[in-house]
Amino acid sequence: MTTYEYRCQECGRFDVNMPMGTAPEDFECAKCHRAAARVFSAPHLARMPSGLAAALAREEQSREAPQVVTEVPGRRRERPPHPALGRLPRP
Ligand SMILES: [Zn+2]
Repeated sequence: MTTYEYRCQECGRFDVNMPMGTAPEDFECAKCHRAAARVFSAPHLARMPSGLAAALAREEQSREAPQVVTEVPGRRRERPPHPALGRLPRP
């Protein structure tokens, strides 16, 4: 069995399991009984965790519209020494 994805104009995307090579172009939506068009997508992307999906979207966007730095960042503030370092024995 293969999972095929369809998109109903009213109800959104849904999956249908059918034998490989038997998926029609349109499939009847189980909720509204209208014809839903077949969608071709990478497998299991609809069930991806939202954090991973957001990271992949940022990666995809950076290919076409990368965020560009227009000036040199300021100097890093130096951290004050840890108080315990003053109590260490000196050579
Ligand atoms: Zn529907």
